[in-house]
Amino acid sequence: MTLDLLQKKADLHIHTHFSDSLLSPKQVIENVKTQGLDTIAITDHDSILGIDEAIDCGDKAHEIIPGVELSTIFQEIDVHILGYYIDYRNEDLVRYLTDLQHFRENRARQMIEKLAKYGIKLEYDLIRNIAQQAAVGRPHIATAMKEKGYVSTIDEAFYRFIGYHGPCYVPKKEIEIREAIQIIKEFGGIPVLAHPGVYECEELIPKTINDGIEGIEVWHPEHTRRCTERLLLIANEYHLLVTGGSDCHGGRKGGRVLIGQVCLNDCYVRELKRRAGIIKNGEF
Ligand code: AMP
Ligand code: FE
Ligand code: FE
Ligand code: ZN
Repeated sequence: MTLDLLQKKADLHIHTHFSDSLLSPKQVIENVKTQGLDTIAITDHDSILGIDEAIDCGDKAHEIIPGVELSTIFQEIDVHILGYYIDYRNEDLVRYLTDLQHFRENRARQMIEKLAKYGIKLEYDLIRNIAQQAAVGRPHIATAMKEKGYVSTIDEAFYRFIGYHGPCYVPKKEIEIREAIQIIKEFGGIPVLAHPGVYECEELIPKTINDGIEGIEVWHPEHTRRCTERLLLIANEYHLLVTGGSDCHGGRKGGRVLIGQVCLNDCYVRELKRRAGIIKNGEF
């Protein structure tokens, strides 16, 4: 057996149905077991509700890092910040995230009003029903549009109506990158810039470093090999932690990316743990 096969593998970017994945935390863990992953992170958008269920369904062979993915705004771009090892049981954090979710609910209602002007009639209850206990987002609205026959694909809902440049798009709560980083740190988490390669914004990495980011997501399904290599060099130069993962949405977002399809070598996970104080310097 080669050393590579002995190396532990991690997927540090996984969604559940508590945000916009179709998989329950239990189904996520079943996938993790079949993929033979050693470490995963649950990183739902604006929600920590999937973490306990994932931990309950896991066993000692699989380490589950509590995480979250917050949305921020920079130069009108929706920039995502991951927070690892966040104190997800903290009541103040839960309150903060609940506020974000209420904002998302109002935003969904505003999008429904805009869609009505285009002859698309949706009841909020249908969207709530699709989202169930999740932080409601555009994927749920797109699903409702498809179910009602207004569009034939989810993609069509995005490019014609609710995509970033669509006529019915409504932004989320406008949190500054600096605020998201501070919130994550305040609750004991490690802030990491999610998928920097998708933004095509040169100023973003220097800006987030200036705002106190501690790591960047280097491995991501939407990163090219060239982009990954460049991000590794940047991480090295600025002494940033390196993370990566599948960003699996369990079939919601096109459905092609599977849990563990993009994964991270354990040496990077150990660095993350050192930063979180979970393992001490010199320990393995
Ligand atoms: P929201 O957080 O409500 O703004 O929704 C953002 C989510 O929509 C992203 O995390 C993706 O999962 C999904 N999404 C964005 N663009 C598309 C697209 N073109 N097709 C399908 N899903 C998309
Ligand atoms: Fe998502
Ligand atoms: Fe993201
Ligand atoms: Zn994500």
